[in-house]
Amino acid sequence: MSNQTIIIRDAKELASLTKKIQHEGKSIGLVPTMGYLHEGHLSLIRAARAKSDFVVVSDFVNPTQFGPNEDYATYPRDEQADFEKVQSCGADVLFIPTVESLYPNGQGSTWVEVQNLGNILCGATRPGHFRGVATVVTKLLWLSRADYAFFGEKDYQQLTILKRMAADLGCPTEIIGMPLVREADGLALSSRNVRLSPEARKQALSLNHGLKRASAAFKAGCRNAEKLIWEAQAEIATEKDTEIQYISVANPDTLEIYNGDVPDQAIMLLAVKVGGVRLIDNMRLDK
Ligand code: AMP
Repeated sequence: MSNQTIIIRDAKELASLTKKIQHEGKSIGLVPTMGYLHEGHLSLIRAARAKSDFVVVSDFVNPTQFGPNEDYATYPRDEQADFEKVQSCGADVLFIPTVESLYPNGQGSTWVEVQNLGNILCGATRPGHFRGVATVVTKLLWLSRADYAFFGEKDYQQLTILKRMAADLGCPTEIIGMPLVREADGLALSSRNVRLSPEARKQALSLNHGLKRASAAFKAGCRNAEKLIWEAQAEIATEKDTEIQYISVANPDTLEIYNGDVPDQAIMLLAVKVGGVRLIDNMRLDK
C-alpha cells in the first residue's frame, strides 16, 4: 500500500482534517475499534479502504462502556502493533484519542441511548454498556464526518443498535455490517482471546460447536427456541470452566427474542465466560 498512515491523538485535529477532506469531495470511511487489532478488525479496514477515498481507524478503549467490575484496566493494548497493521491495510489516519480529548467535560454529561434494544441480551448483564457504545460512536461519526462506518457482525447486538441509532437520529453515515471472522478451528476472533489460558482456549471452542449443533438442528427442521437453546447449551456445558450468561434465539433484524416457535430465519446469540474471560458469538439459523 502506498498510503502513509498518520496518527492523530487530538479530537479537534481530526475534525479539522476530515472537514478539509470532505470539502475536497472525497468520501470518508470510519472503522471504530478498541485496538489490539486482529484479522476481524483488518477485514473491516480493508472493506473501508475498498469503498472510501479516505479511511479513518479509531483505536480507543472507551471507559464509558465498561461496568465498574469489568476489564477496562486490563483490556489488552498494543499501539505499535496496531499502527503497523493499520498501515499495512492502507488506512489514512489512526485516531488514538486520549480520554480527555473525547470527553472534554468529563464522562457522562451527555449520553446517546437506544432504549429497549440496549437492555436485552448483553445489555442485561452489562447495564449501561450500549449507552457507552452509542455515545462514543456518535462522537466518532461526528468527528470523522464518515460517509460509511464499518462494524463486525461478531458484535451483532451492537451493530443492530447502531443501525437503529443512525436511523432514529437521521444520521448521514451509512452503517455497514461485515461478516464475523473466525480462527481456522471456528473460534470467533476477539481481542480478549489473548487472555484465555491454553485450557480455556480449548474449552472456548464449545461456543462454536454449540452454535453449529443448534444450526444443524434448525436445518433438520427444529423450530422450537428452547430445544435449539438446549442443543447449544448441551455442548457448552460439557466444558467445566464455562459459565453461560445467555443463549437466545432472535429475529435477525429487530432482535425480538423468540420463545417457543421460531420462523425460518433467525439468529442464535450467546455470551459465555470461559475460564473467567467473557466471550460472545452468534450464528444465523436458516434452512
Ligand atoms: P472491538 O475492538 O472489539 O470493539 O471491535 C471493533 C470492531 O471490530 C467492531 O465492529 C467489532 O464487531 C469488529 N470485530 C471484532 N471481532 C471481529 C470478528 N471476529 N469478525 C468481524 N468483526 C469483528
